[in-house]
Amino acid sequence: MTGLIDSHIHLDDVRFDEDRNQLIKSAQKVGVGRFIVPAVTVNRFPAVLKVAKEHAAVSYTLGLHPYYINEHSATDLEFLAQSLHDSGAVGVGECGLDFQLKELDRDRQKLIFEAQVVLAKHFALPLVLHVRGAIDEVFKILKKHAYFNAVMHSFNGSIEQARQIIDQGIYLGFGPAACNPNAHKLKQLVAFVPVEHILLETDAPDQPFYDCFNQRNLPIDLWRVNEEIAKIKHIDAADLAKQTTFNTQQLFKL
Ligand SMILES: [Zn+2]
Repeated sequence: MTGLIDSHIHLDDVRFDEDRNQLIKSAQKVGVGRFIVPAVTVNRFPAVLKVAKEHAAVSYTLGLHPYYINEHSATDLEFLAQSLHDSGAVGVGECGLDFQLKELDRDRQKLIFEAQVVLAKHFALPLVLHVRGAIDEVFKILKKHAYFNAVMHSFNGSIEQARQIIDQGIYLGFGPAACNPNAHKLKQLVAFVPVEHILLETDAPDQPFYDCFNQRNLPIDLWRVNEEIAKIKHIDAADLAKQTTFNTQQLFKL
């Protein structure tokens, strides 16, 4: 089977500090060969760069996550621009809009997000998008800049929204949440989206499978994501692996 690529995994997370090397090795044993690690604040850039330096299988993206909107400053945007220029980042993100948490200032989020769209376009790098309760708003900003080189990770919108988004060539990321037997709407969505537009992810350590609730999830989980999404789509797991790996390589120019 083609080696799988985890398109979204926070391998720099402190919850992996104890056993990171071992976890990467066990994932590689079952065919998860490569990992894309998105940074979420400038404070995390050094940790992300360190993981990438220590593991040839790790590529990374740099960005300012909307969840930490109160931590980001104009200087951080300048530092991001400089870092994208100097480093070997394969994308811009994790960035986007999170309108589900009311305490996160929406105007400020839009400002910081739009600046990152401009940067991504400038450096011709793909965007790694975090979108919660704001799919239409994010799409509007992308349209404004006519820049659709992106993946919406852990996508959870409607079929109609998915249709419009993939029409522009944007990829959709799916992970453990889509494998929950009770996630009927999300499963219908996965069934609808053509494999040419799908990336696989674990979003580890934050997205445990429904039957492992309250635990951190692991790099090795991508193998199971591939198996379960293949089942939902009634296709062979090896074919899904092959296509999604190709998609990820195309997007991040690996
Ligand atoms: Zn993430």
